Amino acid sequence: TAPPHLPPRVRAVVDLDAVRANVHALRARAAVAELMAVVKSDAYGHGMVPCARAAREAGASWLGTATPEEALALRAAGDTGRVLAWLWTPGGPWKQAIEADVDVSASGLWALREIVAAAAEAGRGARVQLKVDTGLGRNGCQPADWRELVDAARAAESTGALRVTGIWSHFACADEPGHPSIEAQLAVYRDALAVAEAAGLRPEVRHMANSAAALTLPQSHFDLVRAGVSVYGLSPSPELGVPADFGLRPAMTLSAGLASVKRVPGGHGVSYGHHYTTPGETTLALVPAGYADGVPRHGSGCGPVLVAGKWRTVAGRVAMDQFVVDLGGDTAEVGDEAVLFGPGDRGEPTAEDWARAIGTIGYEIVTRIGPRVPRVYV
Ligand code: PLP
Repeated sequence: TAPPHLPPRVRAVVDLDAVRANVHALRARAAVAELMAVVKSDAYGHGMVPCARAAREAGASWLGTATPEEALALRAAGDTGRVLAWLWTPGGPWKQAIEADVDVSASGLWALREIVAAAAEAGRGARVQLKVDTGLGRNGCQPADWRELVDAARAAESTGALRVTGIWSHFACADEPGHPSIEAQLAVYRDALAVAEAAGLRPEVRHMANSAAALTLPQSHFDLVRAGVSVYGLSPSPELGVPADFGLRPAMTLSAGLASVKRVPGGHGVSYGHHYTTPGETTLALVPAGYADGVPRHGSGCGPVLVAGKWRTVAGRVAMDQFVVDLGGDTAEVGDEAVLFGPGDRGEPTAEDWARAIGTIGYEIVTRIGPRVPRVYV
């Protein structure tokens, strides 16, 4: 930790009140549906366990993870509510997940067979959610194979090996309002539900909606919405709106204390490759955070940072542990705060500003903040 009179090298302050308020805002929007807070990938970089607790406090009845390991980490931290781990992979800790009462997902017969075997080993029935590929073309059972999967699941239910607790799918273009695939996917999903129902399956939860759909497609809410990025206060897409349009507040602020401030003459090359040269005598400030901390190297020469009251851009290349900003005629002190991104209400850039600057999405900006960066919860 830094000496008390100086800020730490770099830190991500995570506002858990914002997480709670975002969950409330999302629940108000999806009035008929339960909310699953998606906490995979360390809660999109915000820290899984504290964010999961905050989301539960605000009424998230489900938590969603990609891997069973993430779900087991929630259990180890004391979470006892419903958790879905949706990314089935061969040889995963399925027995432990079943023992820990985690709902698992099957997109095909191969997964169902391994889950049935794991349930036998665990000596108890598994809770399984069947996933249908309604058009994303990623994970999920093809509609042509759906009946076979449903019948196999029904047969396994009748032996007590498992219970089908959910039927679900995922959108390809929910963040593109009016995209024809949205209604097409919903139609395939409804057909898949009808097939499952006709076969005698009675899932507790039917769900399709991610954040974009939770915010803009009420016809997709069914019993539950799976909200990820919006829980952390980011908009799923700039085309849909900024977070405030949906009553959301970004939860993470990434900042660092300046590690050096120095005068240099004009014509001075800055950072590897000398992609920036000082245009005249100027003040350079060193921000002690780099790509190993998750500051994108693509932010070289374009990433925005608030230093000494103004937006600056990264001067030259982002290095592994540090980068430089040119303060021009302004001054700053060692230890002054450089804010890379935050909610924006102190005039700092947002994660979306970084995403725009480097041609990616806000999701990637927050998720890539590395394990070396302490998360501080307020
Ligand atoms: N559901 C699934 C299957 C996902 O993979 C994700 C995230 O990628 C989500 C829900 C949450 O999406 P979002 O963060 O856009 O709300």
